[in-house]
Amino acid sequence: MTKDTPRLNAFPVFMRVEGEAVVIIGGGEEAAAKARLLGQSSARLRIVAAAPEPDLVAWVEANGAELVVEAFRPDHLEGAVLVFAATGDEAQDRAISEEARRRNIPVNAVDRPELCDFFTPALVNRAPLAIAIGTEGAGPVLAQIVRARIDRLLSPSLGALARLANSFRDSVEKVVPKGGERRRFWNEFFSGAPARAMEIGHISEARRAATELLARRSGSAAGHVALVGAGPGAEDLLTLRAQRMMMDADVIAYDALVPEAVVAMGRRDAERIAVGKRKGCHSKSQDEINDLLVSLGHAGKRVVRLKSGDPLVFGRAGEEMQALREAGISYEVVPGVTAAFAAAADFELPLTLRGVSSSMVFTTGHDLKGGTLPDWGKLAISGATVAIYMGRSVAADVASRLIEAGLSPDTAVAVVENASLSGRRRFHGTLADLPSLETRTDLTGPVMTIIGDAVAGANFERSEPLATHMQERARFADVEGTAA
Ligand code: SAH
Repeated sequence: MTKDTPRLNAFPVFMRVEGEAVVIIGGGEEAAAKARLLGQSSARLRIVAAAPEPDLVAWVEANGAELVVEAFRPDHLEGAVLVFAATGDEAQDRAISEEARRRNIPVNAVDRPELCDFFTPALVNRAPLAIAIGTEGAGPVLAQIVRARIDRLLSPSLGALARLANSFRDSVEKVVPKGGERRRFWNEFFSGAPARAMEIGHISEARRAATELLARRSGSAAGHVALVGAGPGAEDLLTLRAQRMMMDADVIAYDALVPEAVVAMGRRDAERIAVGKRKGCHSKSQDEINDLLVSLGHAGKRVVRLKSGDPLVFGRAGEEMQALREAGISYEVVPGVTAAFAAAADFELPLTLRGVSSSMVFTTGHDLKGGTLPDWGKLAISGATVAIYMGRSVAADVASRLIEAGLSPDTAVAVVENASLSGRRRFHGTLADLPSLETRTDLTGPVMTIIGDAVAGANFERSEPLATHMQERARFADVEGTAA
């Protein structure tokens, strides 16, 4: 505050009124307005009016105040802690004000600042949290505007959160050392998991989160690992649960396929560990990742193991879960939108199609390299829709083996690079065109291939023909041939 800042002539305080008598004198709209305002408190309201208007009578009935239908007498102020003169009559308001002052009871006279010992604020009520806005009577409308703005800013759940905080106060004082540490606890309480749970009305979840926060602060927390699906890459395809887990995490260990923007949706001060695993550049082996998760768990950390798509689809989650089980560390799995679903959505491609395809295969195609056709090859031939993960480098094998086994070379194929992301590319063609995928150098993002008759039901308006590339290569070879 600088020397030039104007000083307040009315200083805001919060006055205890629980169970105390507050007297309002007047029977009209002004009195009713004060009654509504004071009715937000636990004071005992006594309303004195010789001729109360029906609205006021109705309010009194609905809110259980005391209504004294009499002309004002000084003894009506007996035992009051606050008095409101709201008769609408200046002489009478003045007489009430004088009587209150004679008894040393603070008084407010509606619209007569000179008769007021205090002013009533515009109120944002999130009991026990209250925000009182005052202008010393200078601008009640301004106060209302400010009130409305603040009201919009603050979650309706804040009061419940403050009450929850109250119920934790004793234990926090016992367990969390005073000073910085305790401040950090409350900071996290009011802005972290308990607040977020309360925001969506999950009171028991908020209590659980607060209990856990307390356990963590007291150093007795057990670690926990969540294997979380990050979806195909678009931030808004992350599930709400995934995001909540990321906001609660101490550590986020993420794969190379998870975009930075998705990782950034986690808690700001969570430790972030890139565990890599992109074809050709393994930054950590699977064993190292398993060990990392186990040691973080043992250290009592809340870990989010963030995997692209769904964690249980080609994510090596099986090995991680086994390592955690063996180490006795609690874990859970949060599903995500797998790449096949994102690619199908980008292509408006029905993965099952009535009368055409009623089953679907998730495969890598890498198992086609062996001598025998895997089971899914037979499924493809019998009409299943096949989604091929990590299939770019085996595209030619997949095509030739499936054709050999009897699938028509004309079977429809859809390919999506960077499904769900703004830079996605879509290609369509037939099984005979599929080998071209292997030789393309212009595709650097993850690629999903979907094969099957159901693919014919997709929307090809925004896709390029898969074969163009191959034809161009062929033409190029021809030209070269002629030149030679
Ligand atoms: N668990 C992941 C799959 C991991 S395997 C999931 O459920 O989606 C990695 C393969 O997934 C990539 O080689 C690619 O085939 C596919 N993939 C992942 N994200 C993709 C995306 N945005 N677009 C296309 N394919 C994707």
